Amino acid sequence: MPEFTIPKTQKAAVVTKTGGSIEIKTDHPVKAQKDLAPGECLVKLDCSGACHTDLHAALGDWPLKATLPLIGGHEGVGTIVAIADHTSKSPVNVGDRVGIKWLADSCLQCEQCRKGLEQCCSEAKLSGFTVDGTFQEYVVSYVNHVTPIPEGIPSDEAASILCAGVTVYRAIKNSQTQAGDWIVLPGAGGGLGHLAIQYARVRGLRVIAIDTGAEKKELCLKLGAEKWIDFKESKDIVKDVLDITGGVGAHSAVVTSASSSGYVQAIDYLRAGGTLMAVGLPGTAKLDASIFFTVFKSISVLGSYVGNRQDAREAIDIAARGQVKVHFASRPLADLKDVYEGMKAGTIAGRVVLDMSKQ
Ligand code: NAD
Ligand code: ZN
Repeated sequence: MPEFTIPKTQKAAVVTKTGGSIEIKTDHPVKAQKDLAPGECLVKLDCSGACHTDLHAALGDWPLKATLPLIGGHEGVGTIVAIADHTSKSPVNVGDRVGIKWLADSCLQCEQCRKGLEQCCSEAKLSGFTVDGTFQEYVVSYVNHVTPIPEGIPSDEAASILCAGVTVYRAIKNSQTQAGDWIVLPGAGGGLGHLAIQYARVRGLRVIAIDTGAEKKELCLKLGAEKWIDFKESKDIVKDVLDITGGVGAHSAVVTSASSSGYVQAIDYLRAGGTLMAVGLPGTAKLDASIFFTVFKSISVLGSYVGNRQDAREAIDIAARGQVKVHFASRPLADLKDVYEGMKAGTIAGRVVLDMSKQ
């Protein structure tokens, strides 16, 4: 078994109060191997993606509040450098490269866990929300939930599959669509959305991308979207989708915009029997849909929340085979505050991945 030297302190991005600024500390403690509880492992991170959820957590704009002080982040990839004593039947070993996703741990015994809906376990621990996440060099995680990363995919290319990829992979899998169907992706130029285009294409779906600006348009079309609608320029998004789909509407919409606006027209542009997958998480917005037409058109409205361990393996496997590629800019951890500003302004096409080795 490889031996690793573990330092006592490290670099970490810490949020001390809700809505407060991020402090980059260089003397944050690293948990020693002897202090790990059974089932825990210590992962030395290569990098971490920055998800819009981290911004919600730092701002405190959700009905659920994060544990403070908080180290955010839930798209990490690194190497296991220690596993707690008395950990039985660990599916991973010291030296393995693994990913850290939003669901850090769950009981694996309750009804939700038994049914593979472990993200809804009442004892779930959430990376970067209820337990410290991946905006640090060394993160404590859990052997049963870390995701093995296949060889051949670099860590920075794998990172954002752990949240953005897994989430849209599962949402599309459950979108009740088949090859040749039209799928609308509001938020298509963002972190989740640009991966949704690619996972949709892997399933043979025809993609209508909705987002704004020349850079996101170019990215979406390059990644395989067949049609583009700019939500700031369109005079009537419903009409645009109906025109594209021969007047009958799309089979599904996977909404990944972080504001309620992306949801507004979705029921109206779905065809009869269509499915709305709710993924983007505006904190207080209500879904404003016509009950009459939801019934009359037999529309399904489904919430889709990250993914389970199997979804994670499937999503990463597709990426490792090169069928889905994260479009990202690599930046140092110290840039996190600036990354959040870009997210608020909607100027980030694809993702930002924070590289722990960059100063
Ligand atoms: P992002 O900021 O990278 O992307 C959001 C995109 O939505 C941006 O490109 C933005 O321009 C676009 N947008 C904004 N308003 C729009 C509109 N009216 N129509 C179309 N597009 C619009 O964010 P992200 O990291 O992709 O996350 C998106 C949302 O998904 C966040 O709310 C996040 O918390 C949530 N999320 C949910 C899950 C889940 O399990 N359901 C998992 C991860 C993230
Ligand atoms: Zn996320």
